[in-house]
Formats: sequence, C-alpha cells, structure tokens
Amino acid sequence: MTVKIAVASLVQETNTFSPRPSTLDDFRAQGLWTGAEAMARSAGTNTEFAGAVERIEEAGARPVPIMRAWAMSGGVLDRHGFTTLRSLLADGLAAAGPVDALVLCLHGALVADGAADADAVLVEAARAVLAPGVPVIVTHDLHANVTRRIVRAADALIGFHTYPHVDQGDTGRRGAGLALRAADGGPPPGTALAKRPMLVPAEAQALADPPMARLRALADAATGGPILDVSLFPVQPWLDVPELGFGVTVTHTGAPGAQAAAEAVAERIAGEAWAGRAGFSVDPVPVAEAVRRIHPGTGLGPVLLVQSADSPTAGATADSAAVIAALREHGRGLRAYATVVDAPAVAACFAAGPGATVDTMVGATLDPRWSGPVPLSGAVRRTGASPVILTGDAMTGQPISMGRWATVDTGEGLVVLVTERPAPTFDPAGYRHAGLEPADADTVVVRSATMYRAGFRGVHAGAILLDLPGASTPRLDYLEFRHAPRPLHPLDLVGGSR
Ligand SMILES: [Zn+2]
Repeated sequence: MTVKIAVASLVQETNTFSPRPSTLDDFRAQGLWTGAEAMARSAGTNTEFAGAVERIEEAGARPVPIMRAWAMSGGVLDRHGFTTLRSLLADGLAAAGPVDALVLCLHGALVADGAADADAVLVEAARAVLAPGVPVIVTHDLHANVTRRIVRAADALIGFHTYPHVDQGDTGRRGAGLALRAADGGPPPGTALAKRPMLVPAEAQALADPPMARLRALADAATGGPILDVSLFPVQPWLDVPELGFGVTVTHTGAPGAQAAAEAVAERIAGEAWAGRAGFSVDPVPVAEAVRRIHPGTGLGPVLLVQSADSPTAGATADSAAVIAALREHGRGLRAYATVVDAPAVAACFAAGPGATVDTMVGATLDPRWSGPVPLSGAVRRTGASPVILTGDAMTGQPISMGRWATVDTGEGLVVLVTERPAPTFDPAGYRHAGLEPADADTVVVRSATMYRAGFRGVHAGAILLDLPGASTPRLDYLEFRHAPRPLHPLDLVGGSR
C-alpha cells in the first residue's frame, strides 16, 4: 500500500512590538490555498511546502496536501484569524482521511490573541485529529522560539540551517525525510531541546559570521549515528513572550539511549552559545552620518542603507519615513531608492495617475511612535497592483503582494516606492517589479536585518546598519519587555557560565 504523508504549511512570524494586529486578510493577500491548489501553486518554489511534497514524491509515497498559508510577519494574530486557520488545518486533516505521517511547516514564533505559543496549539490541534501514533514532524524558521510544549506535542522538530534563510525547500525535504522514516515502521523519532536566557540582535545572527558560524559547525559535527539533525534557534528578538530564549534542538532516531545522547548534545551546544554571548554584537550608525558617507556616481553599485528597525520581514509596519527624511536632508544629488507603506499616499498617486505631480506626506500612518510623516512631492512614475515574484535565493518563486503601489520621483535623485502592503526589499525583485533597478542607484534602502545579504549578493557595494528605533530595531535596549523571563541577556547583566 502506498504510504500517504500529509503536508501543511502555516507560516507567520509575530512581532509583539508591532501595534498592528495581523488578520486573516494578511494571509488571504498572500495566497491562502488548500488541498490540490496548495500543491499546484507552490510547485517549483523554494518553500518548505514544495520541498516536502517533492521529497515524498521522490520516495514513491503520496503527498496529501492540506493547506499552505503564509503571511508577511506582523503583529499578534487576532482571534478570528487564528481560529479560522486552526480549523482549516484540523478540518483539512480530518477530510483527508487516514495518513501515515504529517509534515507541519510552522514559523515557530507565531503569537495569537490568547495564545502566546500559537504554533504549539496548532500541533496539538493536528494531533487531536490524527489517529493515535501517527508521527508529526514540525519544521520551523531559525527565528522560532521553541518551547517545551511544542517539542512535547511533536515527534520531531527541526529548523532552517541557514541565515539568511535560503534552505526553505531543503528544510521541507528534511522534514519529509523524517516523516518517511517514521512511516516506515521504525521507532518514532524524538527531539531534545536546550535553552538559554539570551537574545541576539538579528543582524548578529548571520551564519557566515562568528559566533553563529562556529555554533553551526559544532551542530554539523554532532550530527551522525543516532543524531539525525541539530538545529539552532537564536530567536527573533522582537518577541515578548514567556519561555523566550536561544534554543537548540537535537533530533534522534528514537533508538534506545538516543534521547539521552540528544539531550547531552543540545545542552553542550546551548552552553557554547551562552559562553560566547558577548560575541553577538552590532554597531549601528546614526542615519544622517550614514547618508553622508555615501558618494554619488562611484559606479561601484549601491551602498545599502539597512533600515532593519522597521523591517516587515521582522513584523514591523514598514511605514517609518525616517530614512526618506535623512536622504532629503543630507543626500541631495544621490540617486536613491526607498520604500514606505502609506495607503493614503498610494491613493493620492492613483488619483493623480502616472506622469502627474503629487504633493503629499508619507510615513507614520500605522506606527507613529518612532518617527513622523515627511513631505514627498514629485512625479508619479508608475503605478501597479500585481504581486512581486521573488527571484533571489530565498523563497524563490513565491509571490508577495505589496497591494497597490506607486513610484514617486522627487526630481532630486530620490525615487520612493510607496505601497499599501510592505514591499519585499530583501530581494531586489521588490524594486525591479516597480521599474527601479538597484544596480543603477548610489544607495538603496533595505528594510531587512540579514535576508538582504542573500538577495543583494553581488548587487551592492556595501551596507550600513542604521541606528534607529522601531518595532524591529537592532537596539534591543530601546524595547520594553514585560512577559519575557528575566534576567535575560543582554537586557540584564547576567553572569555565570550556564
Ligand atoms: Zn527567520
């Protein structure tokens, strides 16, 4: 009989410092697909869902597609959105009939209204529908906050091995591999978790750089024998929840003694992360100074202004015009591209139409806590509404909706891409979609902590991390944590060598 493996993907990263709740509409805008439609629309993309499906098919087993839901990172998911998505998952699994295993792709940092550990609730909801003993394999983003509850609810839990993340498909494949193994009748796999009370700025988490490079090397060296996977979870730091901290998961075969071995590996690598905590640091530059460092017409490619403090892939609202203001004041003569979310300004551009002049304000329409609106006047160059198809190494082929959008050319070198929903600036496709070629600019603003390093590989002449406040700021000391366990490094002085 053909082995049947259910695949479901429900991915959103929550930023609890965002003032804007996420809703079902945020998923619908990016494509909320169930059953065969999920499989058809994901085919060929670098996503967990597509990778899992491919691996199952290659093994001669049958993938049973349940759902694929993805939303841009955002604020806490509202109750209606969460219960609807949870029902889609549970009802989809119930309708699919008996399966031999489930691969469930989740971000791992989803917070819903009333559920600080929403991903664990989803695993439990799936488990409640499946026949007893059906293995559940969970995949996570590296920025997951892995909890004891979700590790208990899943048979195995693994995460991305890359940052910037380019192994979405591979992670789905690895998850499906574990599911195939478990469906083969052997002992179910298991996962051990170790955690440490520390946060790491996302800008200091790149796996090419120390200390993460060394930790990843330790993880790879520990893999083999009964140890099937070691995943590092440095956690995205804009998450004020209980049990917050750096996690390491170690997944094993389920053979006798393997759990104890996995626990020892997890504790050892988490201990190394803790011991090296002082090495995770960032050095952001004040925005005016950063703009003044950029020179026009070098021909070397754009210098990236890294506005990670208001990054939509980190759940911020992407409506801060602080860098636009700095470019207007200190960057005259620079050929510069920037983005801002501002629905009223988009409406004004659509009302004026391409070629017409607009004179409006942009910024601070969603999150006015960190910066104010800025005047923007110029010619509307282009308008549009179709989604961006990502072309970089991350989530390749996935469509991202930025709602309606318009480009406004100030005539002084600065062109602003104004959008209803956040533009994906970690991938040059976001700008190119609007007719702006980053290679032609002196400077380009990217609202991204690290993912841009994959997208803009070979396209830029350097990057400057900006010192700005915001819901996804690199300056963790700007944020006020209320629910996270304390003490927590680096917010508090924590000694010892746990
Ligand atoms: Zn991530």
